Amino acid sequence: MTKIIDNLQRIQQQIDEACKKVGRDPKEVTIVAVTKQVTTERAQEALAAGLQHLGENRPEPLLEKQETITEGAVWHYIGSMQTRKVRKVLDHIDYIHSLDRLSLAEEIDKRAKKIINCFVQVNVSGEDSKHGLTVAEVIPFIEQLSTFSHIRVVGLMTMAPNTEDETVIRNTFKGLKELQQTIAQRQYDHAPCTELSMGMSQDVAIAVEEGSTYVRIGTALVGLDG
Ligand SMILES: *Cc1c(COP(=O)(O)O)cnc(C)c1O
Repeated sequence: MTKIIDNLQRIQQQIDEACKKVGRDPKEVTIVAVTKQVTTERAQEALAAGLQHLGENRPEPLLEKQETITEGAVWHYIGSMQTRKVRKVLDHIDYIHSLDRLSLAEEIDKRAKKIINCFVQVNVSGEDSKHGLTVAEVIPFIEQLSTFSHIRVVGLMTMAPNTEDETVIRNTFKGLKELQQTIAQRQYDHAPCTELSMGMSQDVAIAVEEGSTYVRIGTALVGLDG
């Protein structure tokens, strides 16, 4: 398995180049190391390489890693979240990238003891197989969250369709950014919506060119093991 520090250097270079192309500051881009498929040891290697943000998509592996990793990490929940699992993970995460329905927001608001940073997940491409709200649903949904004192909508998240067609991927990210800016302009107290969670191993460069501020990288950074 390649060393994370070497993978990180390569990905950081991709991010730097993408930023340069469009005149962005690479410091605007936070790498979330998606450790969902790797061991606790590999997650520790990520932290030792200088990564601070870790992403998990299931409660059990998240809690298992936290038995060993008790400090120094910022935890992101990136998978679709079952309402009945909220109570179990809420005290263990700093960000949720997959807020996609009112019932989930209600449960988070009810159980949370602190403000939870949430990304609203958007299905920009309209593919049936993808989780997330349609573009048209997002603003009404965010407006419904205004009375939930424990939810802060920090931004929007999307996954690009699984395609080789770069134009389709780019248009997905452009669409998310356009929506994010519309929402940010409205200056909702509960939804500053300044952030964009988009870009994975295969499409990180395009995502950064299109304005991503949180890239979620698994395979290309920590690889697979098991
Ligand atoms: C697994 C996963 C990632 C990371 O995907 P890679 O292609 O391995 O980089 C990013 N986001 C979400 C929501 C995921 O489930």
